[in-house]
Formats: sequence, structure tokens, C-alpha cells
Amino acid sequence: MAGQVQGKVALVTGGASGIGAAVSELLAREGASVAVTDVDDLNGPEVVARIKKAGGEASFWHQDVTSEQGWIDVVADVMKRYGRLDVLVSNAGIGISVPSITLMSLEDWRRQTAINLDGVFLSVKHCLPAMRKIGGGSVIMMSSLAGLRGAAGLSGYCATKGGVRLFAKAIAMECATFGDGIRVNSVHPGIIDTPIWGKIPTEASGAGQNAPIDPEERAKMATPLGRAGEAVEIAQGVLYLASDASRYVTGTELVIDGGMNAGGVVRR
Ligand code: NAD
Repeated sequence: MAGQVQGKVALVTGGASGIGAAVSELLAREGASVAVTDVDDLNGPEVVARIKKAGGEASFWHQDVTSEQGWIDVVADVMKRYGRLDVLVSNAGIGISVPSITLMSLEDWRRQTAINLDGVFLSVKHCLPAMRKIGGGSVIMMSSLAGLRGAAGLSGYCATKGGVRLFAKAIAMECATFGDGIRVNSVHPGIIDTPIWGKIPTEASGAGQNAPIDPEERAKMATPLGRAGEAVEIAQGVLYLASDASRYVTGTELVIDGGMNAGGVVRR
């Protein structure tokens, strides 16, 4: 039976871990050839090995999403290997938390913005021409619940993810104006159990680092469905947006958050 993205070629940034790894594996299982890119040269090739072991097609590229030359090289390489690009999942991101914005160093602000926002800009700048060549495609940008509403301690992160949300809508309008068949959407995960939560306290280089965050503990209280999400539950949403099942969907935001954005619940 043909998979939901059979024959498509997808590029997934931050594909070595968490949501990006789950997305890469699911897209491959559903028939796509997947270019897994990341700065993590240890886990990236392991994701590719798992995909190949399961009978799928994938390759790993070392890529820092903040490097424009890196984007030029990776896109050229992917085109050489697979001949086309149908799906871009601009997923790589970091979170830096400080108790107060007054403790955020300019260096940390810029590092987070460079990966979460500049990286998404560069991904679109360098992948759209390849998609235009084949007359269509799907761009999926990983925003966050923090791109829809504020979160104390994560103001810099919120600024980047809110930027990604509106950037997706604006590029969706640009592509529609060109009539080039490219759809652009953003995905907004809530609290998902991935390695990112373990990295948040150490990402901040300055004063005021927070204690380690346990996503399951946090989600139990904050999430109407009472648990943290799994990376594969985000991957299912990405698969929908990557596939032709969503051919009438552009400029929208897919919230996958266990109900957090809808309101709060009182547990009895
Ligand atoms: P993760 O830390 O497990 O994975 C992120 C990946 O991005 C890592 O493999 C890391 O090496 C890579 N990366 C970091 N900097 C990079 C760079 N400069 N260039 C290329 N790759 C780089 O985190 P995750 O939870 O899977 O997060 C994936 C995306 O989902 C991020 O954009 C994150 O902001 C977003 N998100 C996550 C959650 C959550 O609760 N986990 C919630 C909302 C949004």
C-alpha cells in the first residue's frame, strides 16, 4: 500500500532528536526519502540507521541552520542525491529560560534568535526555489504554544516562536500570490517529552539559570489532558501537513497541545 507521502523528498532540520527524529521516521515510514540534518553528528546518523533498518530511505547531513553557506550546500546536495524537494520541516530550535528578562544576556538572546528565527528564514530562502522547480511543496515551520501566548521565563523564546508563526502566514501569502503551489503552515506543540527540557537550564550562559524541568510533572498540572505529549503525536500533525490530504490548507496553525491553548481545567 502506498504511504501518505510516497515518492516525496523531505528535509527535516533538527532531525537528530525529539520531534525532528520522530518526524523523520514517520515521513520515511510513509514513503518519503528524508534528508535528516542537524549539528548533532552522533544521533543524526543513528536516526538514519533506524530508518534504513525499517526499510525506509534517508541520509544525514551535518548542518547548522544559522549558516547561509550551509543551506546553499545542503540544498544542492539533497537535489543532487534525490533530484527534488517536496517538503521542508523547519524544526531545529532551542529554548533559553531565565527567571527575569533582566538576566538575559544579549549573546543568549541573539543565539536563540539566530537558531529559532534566522534558521527558519534561511531554510525558506534556500528551499523555495527547489520547490518552485517542481511546481509545489509543503513548508512546515515548528513554532510552539509559546508562539501563541506568553510564558514567564521564556520571553525570548516566545518572541522567536511568535515570529515564526507570522512568518509562516506571510510566506503562505507570498506563495499563494506567486501561484506556485507551495503551502506553508506552522505547528504549535504544547509540552512534549523530548530532550529539549533537559537542555533548557543549561542553554542560558548567564546568571539566573533555572532548575531542571521535568516535562511530565509540568504537563500533569498545566495540560487539560493531564500528560506530556509524545514526539510522535507532533509528527502525526506534520505528516498531515506534508501530505496531499492537506492540499487545501495553507497559512494556518496546527496546535497540538493536549488542550492547553483552549483554557484550564480544575482537577478534582
Ligand atoms: P530537541 O532538543 O530534542 O531537538 C532539537 C534539535 O535541534 C537537536 O537535535 C539539536 O541538535 C538541533 N539543533 C539545535 N541547534 C541547531 C542548529 N544551530 N542547527 C541545526 N540543528 C540544531 O528538541 P525538540 O523538543 O525536539 O524541539 C524541536 C522543535 O520543537 C524546536 O523548534 C522546539 O522549539 C519546538 N517545540 C518543542 C516543544 C517541546 O515541548 N518539546 C514544545 C514546543 C515547541
